[in-house]
Amino acid sequence: MTDLTSEIFNELNADTLPMAFAQLQLSAPLARAVSEMGYETMTPIQAQAIPVVLQGRDVMGAAQTGTGKTAAFALPLLQRMLKHENSSTSPARHPVRALVLLPTRELADQVAEQIKLYGRYTDLRCAVVFGGMDMKPQTLELKKGVEVLVATPGRLLDHIEAKNCVLNQVEYVVLDEADRMLDIGFLPDLQRILSYLPKQRTTLLFSATFSSEIKRLANSYLQDPVTIEVARSNAAASTVEQHFYSVEGDDKRHALHQILRQRALKQAFVFVNSKLGCARLARSLEREGLKTTALHGDKSQDERLKALDAFKSGEVDLLVCTDVAARGLDIKDVPAVFNFDVPFNAEDYIHRIGRTGRAGQAGLAVSFAARSDARLVSDIEKLLKNKIELEPIEFEENLPDIRKQGHINDGRRLYQAEESGVRRDDYASRNPRTPRQDYRRSVPIAQDPFFDKPYEPALPGHTAAAWEATPARPGVRTISSNIKSKRKVAALFSAA
Ligand code: AMP
Repeated sequence: MTDLTSEIFNELNADTLPMAFAQLQLSAPLARAVSEMGYETMTPIQAQAIPVVLQGRDVMGAAQTGTGKTAAFALPLLQRMLKHENSSTSPARHPVRALVLLPTRELADQVAEQIKLYGRYTDLRCAVVFGGMDMKPQTLELKKGVEVLVATPGRLLDHIEAKNCVLNQVEYVVLDEADRMLDIGFLPDLQRILSYLPKQRTTLLFSATFSSEIKRLANSYLQDPVTIEVARSNAAASTVEQHFYSVEGDDKRHALHQILRQRALKQAFVFVNSKLGCARLARSLEREGLKTTALHGDKSQDERLKALDAFKSGEVDLLVCTDVAARGLDIKDVPAVFNFDVPFNAEDYIHRIGRTGRAGQAGLAVSFAARSDARLVSDIEKLLKNKIELEPIEFEENLPDIRKQGHINDGRRLYQAEESGVRRDDYASRNPRTPRQDYRRSVPIAQDPFFDKPYEPALPGHTAAAWEATPARPGVRTISSNIKSKRKVAALFSAA
């Protein structure tokens, strides 16, 4: 496997990497689309990958959604496919030349939308196919002929079996979010799809991590790939303030309500570990007065798209979701992410908190850890290479009944009222649901150098955090009965 330190990197070393799109000499239709999208400077993955893909090399890229990865592969592919561009109405003149495979419907939809934008001044056609939707409209589009086909593996196989598309002229394949495709169990589907493709082709594989499975996949299907690794949107991620609260069971919902209100949060992602848990929590929160929608794999495609639209347009305040459903969604500026459940996989912690603190905005990531989550928290510690301080959550005295809570925006209204000079006490007396408390404490921004490095998988065989073994102490009156008093995990390590 070739690395960027080899011959290509000699030409593209860090000092000479083209950083402005103007330096790429993209063809006029692509350059116009890029400039109309307001992009001037390339992101690191773009600066590294575009020149390499333009040379026709295979690429193994460690980069996530949010780093500008879609343009990193789409622009050079479109540029290289321009020689096939034609305005003929004959389907035979528009065979599939580029195939982009993704793990989820939402991602496929999102990536196809972006490719359509980049290619909108060309005659190249792009279509997307994914499950959960009627096959007929997809079939009609495929039969008309498309050069770029974006698909989830299962539905693509359905179309191949129905002879709705032929892949024997494919020149470019992108395996996007490859680690997630393997996690979901798409490997057999991928192998079948790849067996239908011409051997002579360019293959690009993008993955958040280079696990041994990913390396095996790359060894089997990529030819002498250039390896490119970029840290995830560092500047954004380093602005994420992270908290781990020790909370058990039903107290988690109380904690969620309290933090939403105290921080005057406008919107948040709430991550849970199971589809069932996702649906249940969304229902409870909705009953408790929070405008909530759920995003998980058991929802129909239509419901999932509606949930996303409602969240994006600000119609709903909370998006309760599972990891698979939310992976890679390009929703910007979410002020906070809650890990209602600590993720089973430490790397998912990074994916989850990557939803907030984007584009230099300050973000908040709050995790609720029960005692039984000790091992999972320890995994995250290992991955972050940082001790995690497990904080108690002090519930407000006279904790209001959460069933009578208003919307998150009550917090925002309080904040706005303060901003506009209304005295807090006046506001609180007119809004008895809002406890009298100073919510505007200063928020330290965590500067975590971890986020300036590429991902590294968790180390196998580590031990659990010491606090796992610490017996629970009964809480004091205004603290959840299930929490321990504030302590540093580091201190506990030495005490153990
Ligand atoms: P992606 O990682 O491809 O999902 O891209 C994340 C977001 O960044 C998308 O909304 C893109 O439109 C945007 N984007 C991609 N490349 C650039 C760039 N060079 N400058 C500014 N924004 C970009």
